[in-house]
Amino acid sequence: MRNLVNLTLPELTAWMQAELGEPVFRAAQVWQWIWQKMARDFEVMSNVSKTCRVRLAESACIVWPQIVSTEQSRDGTTKFLLLLDDGALIESVLIPSDDRKGKRRWTQCLSSQVGCAMGCTFCATGQMGFERNMTMGEMLGQVLVARDWLDDTRPDRPLLRNLVFMGMGEPLLNMRELLRALTSLNDGKGLNFSPRRLTVSTCGIEKGLSVLGQNGLAYLAVSLHAPNQRLRERIMPKAARWPLDKLITTLKSYPLKTRERITFEYLLLGDVNDSLEHARELAHLVGDVKGKLNLIVYNQTTGSPYAASDTERILAFEQYLWSRHITVVLRKSKGQDINAACGQLKADRRSQAAKFSRRSCSHFIK
Ligand code: SF4
Repeated sequence: MRNLVNLTLPELTAWMQAELGEPVFRAAQVWQWIWQKMARDFEVMSNVSKTCRVRLAESACIVWPQIVSTEQSRDGTTKFLLLLDDGALIESVLIPSDDRKGKRRWTQCLSSQVGCAMGCTFCATGQMGFERNMTMGEMLGQVLVARDWLDDTRPDRPLLRNLVFMGMGEPLLNMRELLRALTSLNDGKGLNFSPRRLTVSTCGIEKGLSVLGQNGLAYLAVSLHAPNQRLRERIMPKAARWPLDKLITTLKSYPLKTRERITFEYLLLGDVNDSLEHARELAHLVGDVKGKLNLIVYNQTTGSPYAASDTERILAFEQYLWSRHITVVLRKSKGQDINAACGQLKADRRSQAAKFSRRSCSHFIK
């Protein structure tokens, strides 16, 4: 059985023509049912002929990831543990915010791989190792699950406003499926997310960055977390294989739209990367890049090798960057009471005896 959630519109069109002899417009109708009306049963597709619906049901299915558990924080942050077809577990997080009129809107943090090969030392997912890449259907299935949970059925006024690929995995190491997912998200007859509502977060993968830049399908966030190569090698050993100066040089010529800026993520780890000297190095590093900086406050958790920064150090760090004309946003972790950093829920499931409580790069802590 072919899971239609895993086909782009051109693929669905080609498949329906070849397998069912259906015209192009029929695929567009089915596509709209799957992505906008969130149908999971061909029977409800009322503008599709009965014969076609029967044949679809014989040869295809519409399968979303299954919710294993849902945890909701006091601040509204909601975390899903999801089961994929082959039994793999991934996480996805919904983060609330209120718009100018006080209406609640949501950002979803999406996973792109089962586990992660990058091994960042502050990240629970990184400690699990890599299992496999996720498919386009699995990435976008997270969006369908969230929209269903939010009862978000009005494409003209969506509650789910932004999607960030900052969950489990390094998205640029799953480039093929990521591009299929972004293309499908951009489709006006599908989920209809414009590139400015999509962000891909990476710790810096040379080849992937150039492909993403050429496509312009999403905004870019880069997880720095260290202002110099030596420290980066210590806390993000695999990411640091691409030297920091080369990463920054590449970012200086990264293609950006008129109002677009690169977001740098910097997690403040107590007495590791949070001194004024580090702030000076950081200002020097990113000062010439068209970007803004998210400073993320780390909260120490059981079993973590890292500690939180003192409030005075955080404020001094932030102030120094402002004094060097760097746009800084200081962010506190959300969903702390539910361990909302990526990998934590899955880690808890995998090993009740040895719980991870480490923080991920920028994942779920915006
Ligand atoms: S922080 Fe991101 S890139 Fe690093 S190990 Fe975790 S998931 Fe992978």
